[in-house]
Amino acid sequence: MSTSTNGTKIQPNEEQKERVTSKISEVRNRIEKASKDAKRNSPPRLVAISKLHPPSSILAAHKNDTIEDQIHFGENYAQELEAKAKVLPTSIRWHFVGKLQSNKAKLVANIPNLYLIETVDSIKLANAIEKIRSNLKEVDPLGVYLQVNTSGEENKGGLAPLLNEKDVEGSELFNLAKHIIEECKALRLAGLMTIGSATNSKANREQQEVEMKDQTAEEIAAQARSQNPDFDTLYTSRKVLVNALRTSLDQSKVGDRYSKLVQATEQNSDHSGAWGGLELSMGMSNDLEVAVRAGSNNVRVGTDCFGVRPASRDEAMEGMKDELEG
Ligand SMILES: *Cc1c(COP(=O)(O)O)cnc(C)c1O
Repeated sequence: MSTSTNGTKIQPNEEQKERVTSKISEVRNRIEKASKDAKRNSPPRLVAISKLHPPSSILAAHKNDTIEDQIHFGENYAQELEAKAKVLPTSIRWHFVGKLQSNKAKLVANIPNLYLIETVDSIKLANAIEKIRSNLKEVDPLGVYLQVNTSGEENKGGLAPLLNEKDVEGSELFNLAKHIIEECKALRLAGLMTIGSATNSKANREQQEVEMKDQTAEEIAAQARSQNPDFDTLYTSRKVLVNALRTSLDQSKVGDRYSKLVQATEQNSDHSGAWGGLELSMGMSNDLEVAVRAGSNNVRVGTDCFGVRPASRDEAMEGMKDELEG
């Protein structure tokens, strides 16, 4: 039993404990193996995407007797995250991974144990979050990722990618990154995020194994990027963005806050590192291994951590109503 900030008692049942811990353990093994296959120095962070699953399932993963506690969880609806954060322990590190309207920013940005907002896509939204966070006392700058629409699909959120240096002039992605770094002292630009096309992702389910193990780490990463164009595009966007920012930031506004970015070398020698201090958030249930090999620093896995989600939002919220009311 765990007591949260407001004293609610949430108790996972045996089925939940068994299902969630065995699934997460399997996902961790896949990440471990793919990292080793890719000769990476360190594995990416696993964010268990808990949307539409009840607080009791989240708690079963966060505090249990069988596996190491899962710390990072992600949600894609502002109200759902706000409600869950209230009834769950503050030792959880929350990621917001959904579309965020500026007028809903305060529901998310006021959560004390919020770790990252992964889907910042406009100066308006960045300013809204900045305003809320700058009023909180004694909190570190909030990490944000910028969402990139790597697949160009109209139904996907995010800004246009940067494919080469000619794209930088007038680029919303570049302008937003520069704005956050120079003007938003309560935020920390921490990386780029993509969802990518479902077709590319599904194809990757069959590509969990490395084809030629005797390749170098760089060759394995390049091969993985060729197996998923969305990952290649996100990787390239970071490279172009870091190079453009390095030479154009106003040092008087930046100070020593972004030393890794300012000092980034032309070559990204460690493909698994957060080059220039900027991480890549890519990889979900279907394309997890390919994403790890391609150099992801933050994988977001829902279905393979918790099982299939309820068919509708209404059904899901109805099912967890009692737990959210406490
Ligand atoms: C739901 C969701 C995921 C997880 O997807 P699965 O295929 O269930 O692993 C990852 N990222 C985002 C932004 C999501 O909304």
